[in-house]
Amino acid sequence: MAPFDFAPLARRYAQGERLRVNLREPDHNRVRPEPFDKAQDRLREAESKGAPSSSRLNLAGFCATVPHMSSTLIKNIGTLVTGMLEDPLRDADSVLVADGVIQEIGNGLSGGADRTIDANGTTVVPGLIDSHSHPTFGNFTPAQNSMGWITHYMHGGVTSIISAGELHVPGLPLPPDPLCAVSLAIVAKRCWDNLRPTGVRVHGGTLLLVPGLEEKDFDTIDGAGIRLVKFIFYDYSLLPTGEAERYVKWARARDIKVKIHSGGVSRSGVSQVAGVDIVKAIDPDVIGHSTGGPIPMPEEDLRRIVAETEYYVEICTSGNLRMGMVLTEAVRQHGAEARVLVGTDTPGGTGVVPRGILREICFLASLGGITPEHAVAMATGNTGRAHGLDLGIIAEGRPADLVIMDRITGSVSTDALDSFAKGDLPGISVVMIDGELTVAGRSQQTPPPERGVVISG
Ligand SMILES: [Zn+2]
Repeated sequence: MAPFDFAPLARRYAQGERLRVNLREPDHNRVRPEPFDKAQDRLREAESKGAPSSSRLNLAGFCATVPHMSSTLIKNIGTLVTGMLEDPLRDADSVLVADGVIQEIGNGLSGGADRTIDANGTTVVPGLIDSHSHPTFGNFTPAQNSMGWITHYMHGGVTSIISAGELHVPGLPLPPDPLCAVSLAIVAKRCWDNLRPTGVRVHGGTLLLVPGLEEKDFDTIDGAGIRLVKFIFYDYSLLPTGEAERYVKWARARDIKVKIHSGGVSRSGVSQVAGVDIVKAIDPDVIGHSTGGPIPMPEEDLRRIVAETEYYVEICTSGNLRMGMVLTEAVRQHGAEARVLVGTDTPGGTGVVPRGILREICFLASLGGITPEHAVAMATGNTGRAHGLDLGIIAEGRPADLVIMDRITGSVSTDALDSFAKGDLPGISVVMIDGELTVAGRSQQTPPPERGVVISG
């Protein structure tokens, strides 16, 4: 991320504008809009105490953005799903959003917001996070020659996307050499920092780990703000050299998470096979598509990963349904619900699946023995926590990424959560990202919910 340029803001502030800035601290648990001068003072004070320069502070997650200056009151909420596994439902019927951040949650909130959304007794959940995506550049995927796919996913409730590697770039040598892998990660990261199709955050630039990388390469990606690396094309016959172990150590030293492609070979045909033994030897943070993407590891390997390790385990739209049942059974047996992440592993051979995350929540809640509110948490708060992001949680101080949904007319369910429990898709009426409405009344990708919302202001 480029150093935050205060100069234009300073000019506007000097001209009397009541400017505020969101400062996201390194622990990125809280985001609060602050008056411009106060925010600037805090950054300068940190620097005077020996903290790295402001550019470095940005890279450490001390991220300054200019918030949207609008406010929205969502009232008459029937069910508020928090995205927090330990406390998944909150007794509240109103959420006040201002400057892109959730300011207040309670019952019967009223007041002078710029805009009011009457949720009409329906359900509010956090914006969904796709834990495993394969973007390339922009709102186009060469994997299925599809334009606008990120916008379509947003209409399926997805507000953030985490790249599992930009490996669909046409002509990319597979595996890439170290320079190519690092260069691609940097270019992708820079581009995604600068582009949010329909408001969707894309955490891009995930480094594909290949033999021959050096520690300075990890400095380079750290400096660019990249927070994820992935084993997929690495040659595991090199494990005895200790190189992969060093990669994991270098990543951890920089607070960069490590993901591994698990199971059989991918569509590329050149990825490496990884079951429990390889996974344990690598010691990653996240087991990518643990139930297959598309080919899973053997059943016993998956059971052992759940029982014997603490790794996050993804379930993806690209996976094997039978192994999804194996995973959920093992997760329930070992109380490992906090380790389950939900992704699509698309675009790819599975296609472009805008309702993919919704379908995974349906699977978990209707067949996997997971409560619907916990299934939502797996697709939101769990994924945010696993990747060190402050996303996927509805709580005061968090970014205002929300989805409003209800049962679809004709469903045997009573509301959105009951729809998930019965395996029915809910219908989406509203998607909000950073406090701004990106879907206002009707999703293009779900049938309309039975109870609509009323938006005024
Ligand atoms: Zn993948």
